[in-house]
Amino acid sequence: MRAFIPHYQLTTPASLADALALLKNEPGVWKPFAGGTDLMVLLEAGKLPHRNYINIWKLDELRGIDVTNTHVILGALTTYTEVQAHPILQSEFSMLCQAASETGGLAIQNRGTLGGNIINASPAADSPPALLAYDAEIELISAAGSRWIPYHGFHTGYKQMQLGADELLARIRLPRNTEGATHYYRKVGTRKAQAISKVCLAATGRISDGQINDTRIALGSVAPIVVRCLQTENALRGRKPDAETIASARDALLREVSPIDDIRSTADYRLQVTKNLLADFVFALQTGN
Ligand SMILES: Cc1cc2nc3c(=O)[nH]c(=O)nc-3n(C[C@H](O)[C@H](O)[C@H](O)COP(=O)(O)OP(=O)(O)OC[C@H]3O[C@@H](n4cnc5c(N)ncnc54)[C@H](O)[C@@H]3O)c2cc1C
Repeated sequence: MRAFIPHYQLTTPASLADALALLKNEPGVWKPFAGGTDLMVLLEAGKLPHRNYINIWKLDELRGIDVTNTHVILGALTTYTEVQAHPILQSEFSMLCQAASETGGLAIQNRGTLGGNIINASPAADSPPALLAYDAEIELISAAGSRWIPYHGFHTGYKQMQLGADELLARIRLPRNTEGATHYYRKVGTRKAQAISKVCLAATGRISDGQINDTRIALGSVAPIVVRCLQTENALRGRKPDAETIASARDALLREVSPIDDIRSTADYRLQVTKNLLADFVFALQTGN
């Protein structure tokens, strides 16, 4: 049942400093409201847990995509439409563009933000596997200052993360080291569009001197959080892309994921698809696609 709107408060701060002051003075009372595409679903269902929201949509400090010699830095309010339209993201971070193009429909892509996707912390979210495979870092800010941390390790359990009650996610930073790498992204859902993932795999890597190197693999919808598969990466690193390597990497992968049966799929199906996607990634490495 829809929530009773007068029970809720939405304030629009004039500046980032005002937003951070609110979070500092009443920690845990105020929650950010970005594009609202996750929050409005909860509101409609009468399940929006907090009463007080800060509208951060108009904070320019959290917008924009900056490119330096070494990094691409995206404001937390970057929308999926903005991701897809950016030429450097298209040429160097194609998995993020693909994730954005397969997220919801056009209205969601115009309004949904990368920051909201990260903090909503769904294990089935589509951008986090790409961000993990690109070794992203994130900037968390509060009235006390800013800290950059690796995105890998940020999520600590289902909907749990290393975000203080007084902090906002401000920016996402991607190292520009992807030249010549294979970028492999597959979202498997019930349909090609407008579907929540049953399994999502994002992976990068390259073959040099006949061996797999620089590989990073991340998976969504197979554990309580989106997972970076370090053991699987180790099983591939420095090895030839052959059947024996795939078999040992699959064994490692099975130790890193814990899929469940739910309304979208079964644990068995998810495991089988996960193993198939891993083999397909190694094949893509060989063919350089
Ligand atoms: C029809 C539909 C289809 C969808 N399809 C997909 C899909 O295919 N794939 C997918 O991954 N998701 C999908 N989503 C989910 C949603 O669109 C995304 O998660 C989106 O990126 C959320 O961003 P937002 O700005 O709208 O977040 P909001 O709804 O505004 O916020 C989400 C959460 O993040 C917090 N938050 C937001 N920004 C910040 C910040 N900067 N700092 C700290 N906390 C913050 C909020 O407090 C809230 O807890 C879909 C949603 C709908 C309604």
